[in-house]
Amino acid sequence: MTTELLPRIADQRLEPIAEKVERGERLSADDGVLLLTTPDLLTVGRLADTVRARLCGDAVFYNVNRHLNATNICVAGCKFCAFARVKGEEGGWLKSWEEIEGIVGGLSSRTTEIHTVNGHHPDLPLDWYEEYLRRMKSVRPDIHLKAFTAAEIHYFSEHDSVPVPEVLQRLRAAGLGSLSGGGCEVLVERVHRKMFPGKCGASEWLDVHATAHRMGIPTTATILFNHIETLEERVEHLVKLREAQDEAPGFMAFVPLPFHPENTFFARRWRPATGYTELRMVAVARLMLDNFPHVKAYWLTLGTEIAQIALSFGASDIDGTVEEEHIMHMAGSDAPQLVTESGLRRMIEEAGRVPVERDTIYRPVRRAEMAQAQTPPLDDLPHALREALLVAWRSEPERLQ
Ligand code: SF4
Repeated sequence: MTTELLPRIADQRLEPIAEKVERGERLSADDGVLLLTTPDLLTVGRLADTVRARLCGDAVFYNVNRHLNATNICVAGCKFCAFARVKGEEGGWLKSWEEIEGIVGGLSSRTTEIHTVNGHHPDLPLDWYEEYLRRMKSVRPDIHLKAFTAAEIHYFSEHDSVPVPEVLQRLRAAGLGSLSGGGCEVLVERVHRKMFPGKCGASEWLDVHATAHRMGIPTTATILFNHIETLEERVEHLVKLREAQDEAPGFMAFVPLPFHPENTFFARRWRPATGYTELRMVAVARLMLDNFPHVKAYWLTLGTEIAQIALSFGASDIDGTVEEEHIMHMAGSDAPQLVTESGLRRMIEEAGRVPVERDTIYRPVRRAEMAQAQTPPLDDLPHALREALLVAWRSEPERLQ
């Protein structure tokens, strides 16, 4: 075989970064910008894949979950949002207790998580959200409630004049298991002012996550990319998250979300992200966020095809079965509403990896009927991954169910 056929670094400027990755050294913000601008995407992907393999071996995680949006009525008015409606507007909803209990009661016994985020409703007090969690738990006590973004938690705090730690403590007592990672979009004040001035900014969002982590409530983090943010601002976002994880660990995964402009203020002037941009964002996140256990290829926003390829660009999780989704689909996502568990497993296996069903906090789920499946037990996972997973439940493991 000639050496021309072997993988090589086409952009020589990436060589110092490759050496840092080899040595396991932290990358700088300048490195991040270079990774976002180099035309040598395959080297960026290969480096990210090296880091992923170091953390997770061949394992790719997924879960059996259900999304639930109890209300899309919202006062925040974010410019990129196609999901929200103001009170009284056509297309707005607030589900009744009967509807919510019916949805939860109808879930398969295999479902391990409900993932719920909502609009900033003008009238609902914190009591309503406590009742919401309690009712879901009373129908399915075994289920993990991944509920609310940090922006919602901040809004509940302002709305009811209750400090954030007390909001979190009350919601946890009602059944909250972990926080969702949305609501920050891009952790840069310029973007906050222009795109979503009606909800909390970077410092408040980070403060809610740090508080949750110190209380033993794990969370995830996202970026909404491909709108008005610059490449430098994307890197700034990643560096802020990395510093936050250093200070108060508890982020389990990072989820890059490409902006879908259809049905939004930007519909006529913005183009959806290309697969090239999406794969690069996944890979650069994996390289910059050296203290995050996972980067997720969220099939619902990337589409199943790009999500599958992203498993070779640094992603170690593909999210869950979802079942019903409004936020991305109202913004024009053409991904399906549901991928079955066998469909997720097939996507992972075709990519040459081993599917591992996880619960919300990344513990492998063991099912009797899967005893023959090639699911590696936690003890067999690479040491680095086990160490990384401990970040999420280090403080108070008994409270995370
Ligand atoms: S993104 Fe969230 S907070 Fe902003 S308008 Fe939409 S529902 Fe409201």
